[in-house]
Amino acid sequence: MNKVNFDREMTAIMQSFGGERKKLLLHACCAPCSSACLERLKDHFDIKLFFYNPNIEDEEYKKRKAELIRLAKETGWAEICECSHDTEEFYSAVQGLEGCPEGGARCAACFKLRLERTAERAKELGADYFATTLTISPLKDAALINATGYAAGEKYGVKWLPSDFKKHDGYLRSLQLSKEYNLYRQNYCGCIFSLST
Ligand code: SF4
Repeated sequence: MNKVNFDREMTAIMQSFGGERKKLLLHACCAPCSSACLERLKDHFDIKLFFYNPNIEDEEYKKRKAELIRLAKETGWAEICECSHDTEEFYSAVQGLEGCPEGGARCAACFKLRLERTAERAKELGADYFATTLTISPLKDAALINATGYAAGEKYGVKWLPSDFKKHDGYLRSLQLSKEYNLYRQNYCGCIFSLST
């Protein structure tokens, strides 16, 4: 079966705007990953960053959020959209899946929770599209993330912007921008389970 090129899909969607700017709610997992995604999107969208990550414990959450706010301010590429941070939402979504290896069923449930909440907020805000920075990670399954995004978009009646931000050396670019902006880079995905894998 042919693999879908989500990057090509995203490019075709952006080209279809004919220079008009659209509104995007971008789910952001952290500042380093967001940097290269924002650079790619900023000429096509008015972007609001949605740091909805109940998978991350308090202290680390605050650290990552502060860096994201700083990046948005220093680049002027996006605004921040406030949201709740209730780790119970994550623990209840992954109940029974805690011991799954990274990349397995626990992560699928984690993606679903975060993307559904993003879709819901995008709809409330009247955004044209919603998307996520998660596809920039070489460790994450872009096909699964995009399938989850499309399903969430259908559920909440808002358009999913497909992506595979690791294309065009996106991950490498995130490393360069992290250096340029002196961004804090964590060495684990986010939940307490990923600390031990
Ligand atoms: S490893 Fe990452 S994607 Fe998977 S459940 Fe933990 S925080 Fe979510």
